[in-house]
Amino acid sequence: MVAVDNLLTGRMTNLEHLQHEPNFAVRQLDICEPFDCGHVDYVYHFACPASPVDYSTHGIATLRVGSLGTFNALEIAKKYGAKYLISSTSECYGDPLQHPQKETYWGNVNPIGPRSVYDEAKRFSEAATAAYRRYHKVDTRIVRIFNTYGPRMQLNDGRVIPNFMKQALRGEELTVYGDGKQTRSFCYVSDEIEGILRVARSADSGPINIGNPSEFTILECAQQVLAVTGSKSRIRYEPLPQDDPKQRCPDISKARELLGWQPTIDLPTGLKKSLEYFRLAAGVA
Ligand code: UDP
Repeated sequence: MVAVDNLLTGRMTNLEHLQHEPNFAVRQLDICEPFDCGHVDYVYHFACPASPVDYSTHGIATLRVGSLGTFNALEIAKKYGAKYLISSTSECYGDPLQHPQKETYWGNVNPIGPRSVYDEAKRFSEAATAAYRRYHKVDTRIVRIFNTYGPRMQLNDGRVIPNFMKQALRGEELTVYGDGKQTRSFCYVSDEIEGILRVARSADSGPINIGNPSEFTILECAQQVLAVTGSKSRIRYEPLPQDDPKQRCPDISKARELLGWQPTIDLPTGLKKSLEYFRLAAGVA
């Protein structure tokens, strides 16, 4: 197995536990340039900044990896007759007008707004993947990941759970954007990975939503973090970023029926499982 990363938002330390695996290697390179690590049976294309702060800071890199990077990854699959899976996103649904979101919904995306570098790059990735399936007969899968969290997230990547965990553990105010009534549905990382692996092994090309359908307002999420950390932090309201989706919840009927998959870890349990990592990352003993 070869992992390829340019470490724009990733860190080598996340792979330390794998360094003695005999069949695992890491190559630090940028998939926006053509690359070839030799024969592979399966290409998993996860490369992309994924937090709104990261993809705003790295807007052009985000567009490049979704377009050029996706073509290069698809070319590897085509060359070696390998299967191919692309991690897409609930952002394909934009600020959704259908709720919960089914895979058949085409979305409500602002093509030129601050989130468009990510949303449109991922929509383009899906289009390119579907085209390689049609024209080049590459055996492809598309998985749409909804908000996912857990150990090894960057503490400062700006997403809501690392922000709230860090703030709660350090006794700082929790920054709630807008009135906090917008909703998200949070999936613990081990559930997410199990779902993705089942998509990879299934015969269905997708897209398939993989996420946790338990929906919380951001204020409820803040309260959950306060409860798990035992923090006395207060809440501070800040302006809502432009085009911030008002609601987000996956319809996972397809994953349930086709893959027999559904998440097993609810938000309080997942936050508890993540606590030790965030304590260490935040420098709070
Ligand atoms: N959010 C917040 N405070 C923060 C970070 C995020 O209230 O410190 C909100 C953000 O406005 C959004 C939700 O939490 O409504 C989820 O944001 P995140 O960046 O984690 O992911 P998104 O689903 O927006 O891509």
